[in-house]
Amino acid sequence: MAGRIPQTFIDDLINRVDIVETIDSRVPLKKAGREYTACCPFHNEKTPSFTVSATKQFYHCFGCGAHGTVVGFLMEYDHLSFPEAIEDLARQTGLEIPYEAGSHTKADPARQKQSQDLYAILERADQFYQQQLRQHAQSQRAIDYLKQRGLSGQIAAEFGIGFAPPGWDGLILHMGNSEALQEQLVTTGMLIRKDEGRCYDRFRDRIMFPIRDQRGRCIGFGGRILPDAEESKNQASGAKKPAKYLNSPETPLFHKGRELYGLFEARRALRDIPRLLVVEGYMDVVALAEADIRYAVATLGTATTGDHLNRLFRLCNEVVFCFDGDRAGREAAWRALENVLPIMQDGRQIRFMFLPDGEDPDTQVKKIGKAAFETAIDAAQPFSEFFFARLKDPLNMTSLDGRAQLVSQARPLLSNLPDGVMKQMMQQQLDQLARLQAQNFSVPTPTQRRPPRSRTAVSRSQNAPPSLVRYILQRLLHQPALAQQAGDLSRFNLGDIPGLDLLLEVLEILQIHTTLKTSSLIERFRESEKASHLQKLAIWQPEVGDDASLAEEFVTALNKLEQMSLQQRHDALLAQSNLGQLSAEDENEYRELFQKLKQYK
Ligand SMILES: [Zn+2]
Repeated sequence: MAGRIPQTFIDDLINRVDIVETIDSRVPLKKAGREYTACCPFHNEKTPSFTVSATKQFYHCFGCGAHGTVVGFLMEYDHLSFPEAIEDLARQTGLEIPYEAGSHTKADPARQKQSQDLYAILERADQFYQQQLRQHAQSQRAIDYLKQRGLSGQIAAEFGIGFAPPGWDGLILHMGNSEALQEQLVTTGMLIRKDEGRCYDRFRDRIMFPIRDQRGRCIGFGGRILPDAEESKNQASGAKKPAKYLNSPETPLFHKGRELYGLFEARRALRDIPRLLVVEGYMDVVALAEADIRYAVATLGTATTGDHLNRLFRLCNEVVFCFDGDRAGREAAWRALENVLPIMQDGRQIRFMFLPDGEDPDTQVKKIGKAAFETAIDAAQPFSEFFFARLKDPLNMTSLDGRAQLVSQARPLLSNLPDGVMKQMMQQQLDQLARLQAQNFSVPTPTQRRPPRSRTAVSRSQNAPPSLVRYILQRLLHQPALAQQAGDLSRFNLGDIPGLDLLLEVLEILQIHTTLKTSSLIERFRESEKASHLQKLAIWQPEVGDDASLAEEFVTALNKLEQMSLQQRHDALLAQSNLGQLSAEDENEYRELFQKLKQYK
């Protein structure tokens, strides 16, 4: 039997979770002023009278009078006992419950008070750094840097940007020298204790970015080195190179794997969050905010975790990762993808955006402006596309080996996806990729001579089901009038699909000469090598042959062909865009393609 749950733990836990998040994941909340509302889950109503206060961490229904804390809510809503609700919350926050076996001792009041004190201390530190940015004799260097990066006073104030003065004891002197206080500053990661017991400031001569939890409380800091300090220290030979970015360490209040820089600020700035953009650094978040893109957040020196993502998906359905376009960026994107697989439930959309080489969100948004930057976000690669492109690109998909490798690499990853439509579709796409590419290869392109019959050729033609182009040609040759349903042919011709030239040639002839029969069509190719190929295809007979289903198969296959063609053009433009070679015209085309492709998904 599990023992008693210590009260201090319960206090810490309730302090740590956000009631808005917890309730919102069960009863979707709408922001209304400072509070959140919904139709009450505990009584029947048409207009919302159920309110949740983020500041008070309390819910209240004006209709039926239900009210309580996050624990009370879970007990009522999920029908849990008190210990069960606590266990549930602990799981949600990744905390382990320190059960006390059969003990009935009262919670240690000192301990209970401790976490309150830690928040208060960080709040004071936060105020101190902001004040130092305004007042310290050396803060002009920080101000100049922020100005040079295009930051306005308004955004700097909104994000609470501050300045940690140079020297070893700026914070210590400000906070006071008591032993107990120093101990707490060490606990919150603000001071570092040396072996001989003396303490010094962790953050020195840095621009300070307070990291806030969902309730807006400061739980840690990120500090960026000043550019002049960076240079001079780098030159000092033998000296340890200071980190450009320094974060608070893991503390009782701050857990890198859960927190996201800028999330509190985004929620405060936006009533409805349309999507969230995950970037790499604090400067990216504030620079995007400066450009009026208010939905950017940054992880804090870690890869994105499932916890991060779950948190983001409670606020919106779409998360876009923004990475540098270089190799390191693509590697980081892939790591993020691997981490998010297990939480890719249906309805959650994840996309990947790659910036041109050498750019970060900060420089890029300055260069191209808000509208173009948002267009690029719109055009980010869908999860499935990035997934398959990444696995497929290094492989030779025309070889059996390559396709086998694709399957063996993709299968274990896909098995991490939660069951659902998404997983099914990804698996179907894998099957299709493993097969389709094979058949494309087995259809000779018009300029290619069919290789002499060999063992491999025989086994391929026996095993491989017909390719898309071949499939279409078979139906077309069976019923040439179908050509009238093919519409504008240019839509198929954006990429490089093997066998396509012949298909288009046949379609074009049939669209012009509407009375041609199969035989007369093939006759037109008499002088060409294509004739024998067409003749073989013309042998095909539909299994159940009514005209309507034949026409339907034909049109469906053409749509698929169009999709492939659009996709290839899309991929080509994307590759160009990653090289930074997209003209305005290309960009329009890209956007159109993206919209069209969306219809297929
Ligand atoms: Zn109610």
